[in-house]
Amino acid sequence: AGKAYMFMMRTRQPSGLVDNRLYLVMDDLADQYGNGTLRLTTRQAYQLHGVLKHDLKTVFSSVIKNMGSTLGACGDVNRNVMGPAVPFKNRPDYVAAQKLANDVADLLAPQSGAYYDMWLDGEKFMSVYKEDPKVTADRAFNGFGTNFENSPEPIYGAQFLPRKFKVATTVPGDNSVDLFTQDLGLVVIMDEADPTKVKGYNVVVGGGMGRTHRDEDTYPRLADPLGFVEAEDVFHAVKAVVAVQRDYGRRDNRKQARLKYLIDEWGIDRFRTVFEQYFGKKIQAFKPLPAWEYRDYLGWGEQGDGKLYYGIYVQNGRLKGEVKKALRAVIEKFALPVTLTPHQNIILRDVDPAHKAEIAAMLRAGGVAELVDWDSLDRLSMACPALPLCGLAVTEAERTLPDINQRIRASMTKVGLAADQELIVRMTGCPNGCARPYMAELGFVGDGPNSYQIYLGGNANQTRLAELYADRVKVKDLETFLEPIFAAYKDGRRPKEVFGDWVARVGLPAVKAAAATAAAS
Ligand code: SF4
Repeated sequence: AGKAYMFMMRTRQPSGLVDNRLYLVMDDLADQYGNGTLRLTTRQAYQLHGVLKHDLKTVFSSVIKNMGSTLGACGDVNRNVMGPAVPFKNRPDYVAAQKLANDVADLLAPQSGAYYDMWLDGEKFMSVYKEDPKVTADRAFNGFGTNFENSPEPIYGAQFLPRKFKVATTVPGDNSVDLFTQDLGLVVIMDEADPTKVKGYNVVVGGGMGRTHRDEDTYPRLADPLGFVEAEDVFHAVKAVVAVQRDYGRRDNRKQARLKYLIDEWGIDRFRTVFEQYFGKKIQAFKPLPAWEYRDYLGWGEQGDGKLYYGIYVQNGRLKGEVKKALRAVIEKFALPVTLTPHQNIILRDVDPAHKAEIAAMLRAGGVAELVDWDSLDRLSMACPALPLCGLAVTEAERTLPDINQRIRASMTKVGLAADQELIVRMTGCPNGCARPYMAELGFVGDGPNSYQIYLGGNANQTRLAELYADRVKVKDLETFLEPIFAAYKDGRRPKEVFGDWVARVGLPAVKAAAATAAAS
């Protein structure tokens, strides 16, 4: 018998928006063709694990026919475009950020017909894209001095991009999308004279998480401010950034092919100059922004249109068992659309307030724990799928983090830290960093079987990189390793200073020295 190859399918859901029909289809597919679970990703998409090769076509065509897509979810193209997940219907800035995420996903969608031919026998389901005509027009207009107008790929050209490309949109102050980890970030700026109107967008470029062990030339990087573009120029600015990366990004070494390395090599000023040649004019100065906050929108909230939303915590994004069943029952009964969040959680949208009590009761009866029942360590942490589902993993993440969180909480308690002390923990099974561990206050990056690099010093608002503190820390030694650090933090912190801020203020050598003293006492 032939080998039963298994595949993973990842969908494309700009801003994580999933309509009711697609939710039910994905839920069914997971049971019929996957491993009975659904994975919500850190980029607001689905992953369906365990699809057998001979079922792939059925699965992909079901998704496409039900208004979903996998187009551009993988490969050297633009990946799923993230956007703020909260459905604030009376906030034109949020509405604009979510629309922009969808438009950019359309703008940068690969245009080749191969995708449809492969999965739908050449049947064209172009109606799945209700594309804004301006997006279509903007894609066709090239204007970069290249001659791709007649190419099937007017933006990517024959060679596509040197590597994957990641985009997020958001509004000032809301860093739920981890803006600075993206190749390209767009921040909606509303018109001061008319707050219902978008004036334009602040643009940041050159973020990225992935690195390779024992290769010092690879590293995580935060995006830099590029400037501000008027609303009507935004697609052209997006294309210009992509085209600079397309034409100058390194193609001789995949490990150096992300936009962040080009920007580091050139510096942001030279990048801006080249960008402006493609853009056709000067970019304006970056607009001042308020401080960023990381928000997860869990619990009940008002949408602003009379309806409610309900953000539900999903541990490490894995929907399975009773929780999956209870969610499906609610989503089906009340015909709810949902949003997948950048934190691997799910938000039920458009809930009629009259149904709130029944929904809460159904979820409770179905075993969906309420927010108060979760330790804040769980609520704030993220892990990637890692073993056994990801071919790049060198160790565990999703399967082991719940247990590790409990051990971290026990260690914190043992040294006298408060039971509600918050700490942002993120874990990945390899240095690729899909769960963005380099932004955590305490990041675990797999570097061998049951062994992790430890990163310290990210911040709650996701605006500062953590630094490498130790290599090859064995899971069995976790308490011995962490307790002296927590004890040193407890003694050395300022009032209300969180762990990551303490680490950043005193610096890693001082953390090490204080931990050594604490361990000896
Ligand atoms: Fe991503 Fe690495 Fe985790 Fe796989 S193991 S999901 S590549 S971080």
